[in-house]
Amino acid sequence: MRRREFIKNSSMIGVGAYTASKLGILELNKFPGGKMASPVIISTWNFGTKANEVAWKALSAGSNSLDAVEQGIRMIEEDPNIMSVGYGGLPDELMDVTLDASIMDWRGNCGAVGALPKIVHAVSVARTVMERSKHVMLVGEGAYEFALAHGFKPTDLLTDKAREAWLKWKDNLGPDNNWLGPHDMNDLDGNHDTIGLLVLDSKAHLSGGVSTSGLSWKIHGRVGDSPIIGAGVYVDGKVGAAASTGVGEANMRIVGSHLVVESMKAGASPQEACEIAIRRAIEVHSKVLKKDKSFQLAYIGIDVRGEVGGAAIRKGFQYAVRKEGTNKLIDSKFLYND
Ligand code: ASP
Repeated sequence: MRRREFIKNSSMIGVGAYTASKLGILELNKFPGGKMASPVIISTWNFGTKANEVAWKALSAGSNSLDAVEQGIRMIEEDPNIMSVGYGGLPDELMDVTLDASIMDWRGNCGAVGALPKIVHAVSVARTVMERSKHVMLVGEGAYEFALAHGFKPTDLLTDKAREAWLKWKDNLGPDNNWLGPHDMNDLDGNHDTIGLLVLDSKAHLSGGVSTSGLSWKIHGRVGDSPIIGAGVYVDGKVGAAASTGVGEANMRIVGSHLVVESMKAGASPQEACEIAIRRAIEVHSKVLKKDKSFQLAYIGIDVRGEVGGAAIRKGFQYAVRKEGTNKLIDSKFLYND
Protein backbone atom coordinates (compact mmCIF):
# COMPACT_ATOMS: atom_id res chain seq x y z
CA MET A 1 0.00 0.00 0.00
CA ARG A 2 1.33 3.43 -0.89
CA ARG A 3 1.95 5.82 1.94
CA ARG A 4 -0.88 8.18 1.00
CA GLU A 5 -3.37 5.36 0.55
CA PHE A 6 -2.32 4.09 3.92
CA ILE A 7 -3.19 7.42 5.46
CA LYS A 8 -6.49 7.74 3.60
CA ASN A 9 -7.46 4.25 4.69
CA SER A 10 -6.51 4.72 8.26
CA SER A 11 -9.64 5.37 10.27
CA MET A 12 -7.96 6.31 13.53
CA ILE A 13 -6.22 9.50 12.52
CA GLY A 14 -4.03 9.69 15.63
CA VAL A 15 -2.60 6.20 15.35
CA GLY A 16 -2.57 6.33 11.55
CA ALA A 17 -0.72 9.62 11.39
CA TYR A 18 1.86 8.47 13.91
CA THR A 19 2.65 5.25 12.09
CA ALA A 20 2.50 6.93 8.71
CA SER A 21 4.83 9.68 9.82
CA LYS A 22 7.42 7.10 10.81
CA LEU A 23 7.05 5.41 7.45
CA GLY A 24 7.09 8.80 5.76
CA ILE A 25 10.35 9.82 7.33
CA LEU A 26 12.03 6.62 6.24
CA GLU A 27 10.76 7.02 2.74
CA LEU A 28 11.56 10.71 2.49
CA ASN A 29 15.15 10.14 3.51
CA LYS A 30 15.77 7.77 0.63
CA PHE A 31 17.30 9.44 -2.36
CA PRO A 32 17.58 7.63 -5.68
CA GLY A 33 20.64 5.40 -5.61
CA GLY A 34 21.50 6.73 -2.16
CA LYS A 35 22.79 9.95 -3.75
CA MET A 36 22.74 13.35 -2.16
CA ALA A 37 19.82 15.63 -3.01
CA SER A 38 19.65 18.00 -5.95
CA PRO A 39 19.19 21.49 -4.56
CA VAL A 40 15.77 23.08 -4.95
CA ILE A 41 14.76 26.61 -3.96
CA ILE A 42 11.25 28.05 -3.73
CA SER A 43 10.27 31.59 -2.84
CA THR A 44 7.31 33.96 -2.83
CA TRP A 45 6.26 36.52 -5.46
CA ASN A 46 8.02 37.66 -8.60
CA PHE A 47 10.97 39.09 -6.68
CA GLY A 48 11.53 35.49 -5.57
CA THR A 49 13.29 34.77 -8.87
CA LYS A 50 16.03 37.26 -7.87
CA ALA A 51 16.28 35.86 -4.37
CA ASN A 52 16.48 32.35 -5.84
CA GLU A 53 19.44 33.33 -8.03
CA VAL A 54 21.36 34.75 -5.09
CA ALA A 55 20.57 31.70 -2.97
CA TRP A 56 21.57 29.38 -5.83
CA LYS A 57 24.91 31.19 -6.21
CA ALA A 58 25.50 30.81 -2.49
CA LEU A 59 24.82 27.05 -2.73
CA SER A 60 27.12 26.80 -5.76
CA ALA A 61 29.87 28.48 -3.75
CA GLY A 62 29.51 25.81 -1.07
CA SER A 63 27.12 27.51 1.37
CA ASN A 64 24.54 25.45 3.19
CA SER A 65 20.78 26.03 3.01
CA LEU A 66 20.77 28.38 6.00
CA ASP A 67 23.37 30.71 4.46
CA ALA A 68 21.58 30.55 1.12
CA VAL A 69 18.27 31.58 2.73
CA GLU A 70 19.92 34.50 4.47
CA GLN A 71 21.77 35.66 1.35
CA GLY A 72 18.69 35.46 -0.86
CA ILE A 73 16.51 37.40 1.57
CA ARG A 74 19.18 40.06 2.20
CA MET A 75 19.16 40.89 -1.47
CA ILE A 76 15.43 41.66 -1.36
CA GLU A 77 15.77 43.59 1.91
CA GLU A 78 18.27 46.02 0.44
CA ASP A 79 16.30 46.77 -2.75
CA PRO A 80 14.55 50.17 -2.30
CA ASN A 81 12.13 49.39 -5.13
CA ILE A 82 10.59 46.49 -3.26
CA MET A 83 8.19 48.39 -1.02
CA SER A 84 7.11 45.60 1.28
CA VAL A 85 10.46 44.32 2.55
CA GLY A 86 13.44 45.97 4.28
CA TYR A 87 14.82 49.30 3.06
CA GLY A 88 12.07 51.18 1.19
CA GLY A 89 9.29 49.17 2.87
CA LEU A 90 6.01 51.00 3.49
CA PRO A 91 5.71 52.54 6.96
CA ASP A 92 3.14 52.17 9.71
CA GLU A 93 0.45 54.70 10.68
CA LEU A 94 3.08 56.96 12.31
CA MET A 95 5.36 56.83 9.25
CA ASP A 96 7.79 54.48 11.01
CA VAL A 97 9.16 51.58 8.98
CA THR A 98 9.44 48.49 11.17
CA LEU A 99 10.43 45.03 10.01
CA ASP A 100 9.45 41.46 10.88
CA ALA A 101 11.62 38.46 10.00
CA SER A 102 12.46 34.92 11.01
CA ILE A 103 14.73 32.08 10.00
CA MET A 104 14.80 28.36 10.81
CA ASP A 105 17.09 25.46 9.91
CA TRP A 106 16.78 21.69 9.56
CA ARG A 107 18.03 21.13 13.12
CA GLY A 108 15.10 23.08 14.57
CA ASN A 109 17.17 26.17 15.36
CA CYS A 110 15.21 29.35 14.87
CA GLY A 111 15.31 33.08 15.51
CA ALA A 112 12.99 36.02 14.88
CA VAL A 113 12.58 39.76 15.19
CA GLY A 114 9.32 41.72 15.32
CA ALA A 115 8.71 45.45 14.77
CA LEU A 116 12.43 46.03 14.31
CA PRO A 117 13.27 49.67 13.45
CA LYS A 118 16.23 51.11 11.53
CA ILE A 119 18.03 47.92 10.49
CA VAL A 120 17.96 46.85 6.85
CA HIS A 121 18.78 43.17 7.25
CA ALA A 122 16.12 41.98 9.65
CA VAL A 123 16.74 38.38 8.57
CA SER A 124 20.36 38.60 9.69
CA VAL A 125 19.28 40.01 13.05
CA ALA A 126 16.87 37.07 13.33
CA ARG A 127 19.76 34.72 12.59
CA THR A 128 21.86 36.48 15.21
CA VAL A 129 19.07 36.02 17.77
CA MET A 130 19.12 32.34 16.85
CA GLU A 131 22.89 31.96 17.09
CA ARG A 132 23.92 34.46 19.75
CA SER A 133 21.12 34.33 22.30
CA LYS A 134 19.08 31.73 24.12
CA HIS A 135 15.87 33.30 22.88
CA VAL A 136 13.80 32.81 19.77
CA MET A 137 12.23 36.25 19.31
CA LEU A 138 13.14 39.84 20.14
CA VAL A 139 10.93 42.82 19.35
CA GLY A 140 11.02 46.59 18.98
CA GLU A 141 13.63 48.63 20.82
CA GLY A 142 15.10 45.55 22.47
CA ALA A 143 15.66 43.90 19.11
CA TYR A 144 17.21 47.12 17.83
CA GLU A 145 19.60 47.41 20.77
CA PHE A 146 20.53 43.76 20.37
CA ALA A 147 21.28 44.41 16.69
CA LEU A 148 23.46 47.43 17.47
CA ALA A 149 25.33 45.45 20.12
CA HIS A 150 26.09 42.85 17.47
CA GLY A 151 27.48 45.34 14.99
CA PHE A 152 24.48 46.13 12.78
CA LYS A 153 24.46 49.73 11.55
CA PRO A 154 21.39 51.98 11.90
CA THR A 155 19.79 53.18 8.65
CA ASP A 156 16.80 55.36 7.87
CA LEU A 157 14.54 52.80 6.17
CA LEU A 158 12.05 55.36 4.84
CA THR A 159 12.63 56.25 1.18
CA ASP A 160 11.04 59.29 -0.53
CA LYS A 161 8.80 56.99 -2.52
CA ALA A 162 7.50 55.33 0.65
CA ARG A 163 7.03 58.72 2.33
CA GLU A 164 4.97 59.92 -0.64
CA ALA A 165 2.84 56.77 -0.53
CA TRP A 166 2.23 57.38 3.17
CA LEU A 167 1.21 61.01 2.53
CA LYS A 168 -1.20 59.89 -0.17
CA TRP A 169 -2.73 57.34 2.18
CA LYS A 170 -3.03 59.92 4.96
CA ASP A 171 -4.60 62.51 2.65
CA ASN A 172 -7.22 60.07 1.49
CA LEU A 173 -8.01 58.62 4.89
CA GLY A 174 -11.69 59.26 5.54
CA PRO A 175 -13.94 58.06 8.34
CA ASP A 176 -15.06 55.06 6.26
CA ASN A 177 -11.61 53.93 5.28
CA ASN A 178 -10.34 50.59 6.32
CA TRP A 179 -7.54 51.64 8.64
CA LEU A 180 -5.16 49.01 7.39
CA GLY A 181 -5.84 50.05 3.83
CA PRO A 182 -6.09 47.77 0.85
CA HIS A 183 -3.65 44.97 1.16
CA ASP A 184 -3.37 44.50 -2.56
CA MET A 185 -0.34 46.52 -3.53
CA ASN A 186 -0.70 46.07 -7.27
CA ASP A 187 -0.78 49.83 -7.62
CA LEU A 188 2.76 50.06 -6.29
CA ASP A 189 4.70 48.96 -9.33
CA GLY A 190 3.73 45.37 -8.91
CA ASN A 191 5.62 45.01 -5.66
CA HIS A 192 4.21 42.65 -3.11
CA ASP A 193 4.43 41.38 0.34
CA THR A 194 6.72 39.10 2.26
CA ILE A 195 9.77 37.41 0.82
CA GLY A 196 9.61 33.79 1.94
CA LEU A 197 12.49 31.59 0.82
CA LEU A 198 12.91 27.84 1.35
CA VAL A 199 16.11 26.05 0.37
CA LEU A 200 16.98 22.36 0.08
CA ASP A 201 20.73 21.96 -0.27
CA SER A 202 22.74 19.07 -1.68
CA LYS A 203 22.96 17.40 1.73
CA ALA A 204 19.14 17.39 1.85
CA HIS A 205 19.25 20.00 4.59
CA LEU A 206 16.28 22.36 4.56
CA SER A 207 16.16 25.93 5.81
CA GLY A 208 13.63 28.71 5.47
CA GLY A 209 13.17 32.37 6.21
CA VAL A 210 10.81 35.29 5.77
CA SER A 211 11.17 39.07 5.90
CA THR A 212 8.69 41.93 5.49
CA SER A 213 7.82 45.46 6.49
CA GLY A 214 4.36 44.03 7.17
CA LEU A 215 1.02 45.50 6.31
CA SER A 216 1.31 49.07 5.11
CA TRP A 217 -0.10 51.71 7.50
CA LYS A 218 -0.31 49.11 10.27
CA ILE A 219 -0.98 50.31 13.81
CA HIS A 220 2.28 51.27 15.48
CA GLY A 221 3.51 48.24 17.40
CA ARG A 222 1.75 45.70 15.20
CA VAL A 223 3.70 42.49 14.67
CA GLY A 224 2.63 40.23 11.83
CA ASP A 225 2.92 36.52 11.22
CA SER A 226 6.43 36.55 9.78
CA PRO A 227 8.34 36.35 13.07
CA ILE A 228 5.96 33.78 14.55
CA ILE A 229 7.68 30.43 14.08
CA GLY A 230 5.06 28.04 12.73
CA ALA A 231 3.08 30.86 11.12
CA GLY A 232 5.53 32.81 8.93
CA VAL A 233 7.89 29.91 8.39
CA TYR A 234 8.39 26.36 9.64
CA VAL A 235 11.00 23.70 8.96
CA ASP A 236 11.05 20.06 10.00
CA GLY A 237 14.39 18.81 8.74
CA LYS A 238 13.10 15.26 8.25
CA VAL A 239 9.93 16.25 6.46
CA GLY A 240 9.71 19.64 4.77
CA ALA A 241 9.41 23.39 5.09
CA ALA A 242 6.76 26.04 4.46
CA ALA A 243 6.42 29.81 4.40
CA SER A 244 3.57 32.26 4.09
CA THR A 245 2.62 35.64 2.69
CA GLY A 246 -0.60 37.62 2.86
CA VAL A 247 -2.70 38.92 5.74
CA GLY A 248 -0.63 37.91 8.73
CA GLU A 249 -3.50 37.96 11.18
CA ALA A 250 -5.27 35.25 9.18
CA ASN A 251 -2.15 33.13 9.11
CA MET A 252 -1.51 33.53 12.83
CA ARG A 253 -5.00 32.23 13.57
CA ILE A 254 -4.24 28.91 11.90
CA VAL A 255 -0.43 28.72 12.42
CA GLY A 256 -0.40 27.85 8.75
CA SER A 257 3.23 27.02 7.95
CA HIS A 258 3.26 24.48 10.76
CA LEU A 259 0.01 23.07 9.44
CA VAL A 260 1.57 22.69 5.97
CA VAL A 261 4.60 20.83 7.33
CA GLU A 262 2.53 18.64 9.67
CA SER A 263 0.27 17.74 6.76
CA MET A 264 3.34 16.66 4.78
CA LYS A 265 4.41 14.60 7.77
CA ALA A 266 1.03 12.89 7.69
CA GLY A 267 1.56 11.99 4.03
CA ALA A 268 0.38 14.96 1.95
CA SER A 269 2.48 16.22 -0.93
CA PRO A 270 3.70 19.84 -0.59
CA GLN A 271 0.95 20.90 -3.01
CA GLU A 272 -1.75 19.05 -1.09
CA ALA A 273 -0.37 20.38 2.19
CA CYS A 274 -0.50 24.02 1.03
CA GLU A 275 -4.08 23.48 -0.10
CA ILE A 276 -5.02 21.99 3.28
CA ALA A 277 -3.80 25.17 5.00
CA ILE A 278 -5.60 27.43 2.51
CA ARG A 279 -8.83 25.49 2.96
CA ARG A 280 -8.47 25.92 6.72
CA ALA A 281 -7.92 29.67 6.31
CA ILE A 282 -10.98 29.95 4.05
CA GLU A 283 -13.08 28.03 6.56
CA VAL A 284 -11.97 30.22 9.47
CA HIS A 285 -12.35 33.50 7.54
CA SER A 286 -15.43 32.82 5.43
CA LYS A 287 -17.25 35.97 6.59
CA VAL A 288 -14.39 38.41 6.07
CA LEU A 289 -13.60 36.88 2.68
CA LYS A 290 -17.02 37.80 1.37
CA LYS A 291 -16.58 41.44 2.41
CA ASP A 292 -12.91 42.10 1.77
CA LYS A 293 -11.91 41.38 -1.82
CA SER A 294 -8.27 42.13 -1.18
CA PHE A 295 -7.96 39.58 1.62
CA GLN A 296 -5.20 37.27 0.44
CA LEU A 297 -3.12 34.52 2.02
CA ALA A 298 -0.72 32.08 0.42
CA TYR A 299 1.69 29.27 1.26
CA ILE A 300 4.69 27.70 -0.40
CA GLY A 301 6.04 24.31 0.61
CA ILE A 302 8.88 21.92 -0.14
CA ASP A 303 9.67 18.44 1.13
CA VAL A 304 13.06 16.82 1.75
CA ARG A 305 12.95 15.18 -1.66
CA GLY A 306 12.64 18.55 -3.35
CA GLU A 307 9.00 18.30 -4.36
CA VAL A 308 7.36 21.74 -4.15
CA GLY A 309 3.88 23.26 -3.99
CA GLY A 310 2.02 26.51 -3.53
CA ALA A 311 -1.55 27.63 -2.92
CA ALA A 312 -3.40 30.86 -2.27
CA ILE A 313 -6.87 31.98 -1.30
CA ARG A 314 -7.24 34.22 -4.33
CA LYS A 315 -5.90 34.55 -7.82
CA GLY A 316 -2.71 36.58 -8.21
CA PHE A 317 -0.14 34.86 -6.03
CA GLN A 318 3.05 33.76 -7.76
CA TYR A 319 6.03 31.79 -6.53
CA ALA A 320 9.45 31.11 -7.99
CA VAL A 321 11.12 27.70 -8.19
CA ARG A 322 14.83 27.30 -8.85
CA LYS A 323 16.27 23.93 -9.80
CA GLU A 324 19.31 22.85 -11.79
CA GLY A 325 19.05 24.84 -15.04
CA THR A 326 15.69 26.57 -14.43
CA ASN A 327 14.25 29.45 -12.41
CA LYS A 328 10.52 29.61 -13.07
CA LEU A 329 7.81 31.95 -11.88
CA ILE A 330 4.63 29.96 -11.34
CA ASP A 331 1.03 31.20 -11.11
CA SER A 332 -0.24 29.63 -7.94
CA LYS A 333 -3.33 27.53 -7.67
CA PHE A 334 -6.06 29.44 -5.80
CA LEU A 335 -9.02 27.98 -3.99
CA TYR A 336 -11.50 30.81 -3.53
CA ASN A 337 -13.66 32.27 -6.28
CA ASP A 338 -15.96 35.21 -5.78
N1 ASP B 1 2.30 38.49 6.05
C1 ASP B 1 2.78 39.85 6.11
C2 ASP B 1 2.22 40.51 7.32
O1 ASP B 1 1.06 40.35 7.61
C3 ASP B 1 2.50 40.68 4.93
C4 ASP B 1 2.43 40.00 3.60
O2 ASP B 1 3.05 39.00 3.35
O3 ASP B 1 1.71 40.50 2.76
O4 ASP B 1 2.94 41.23 7.94
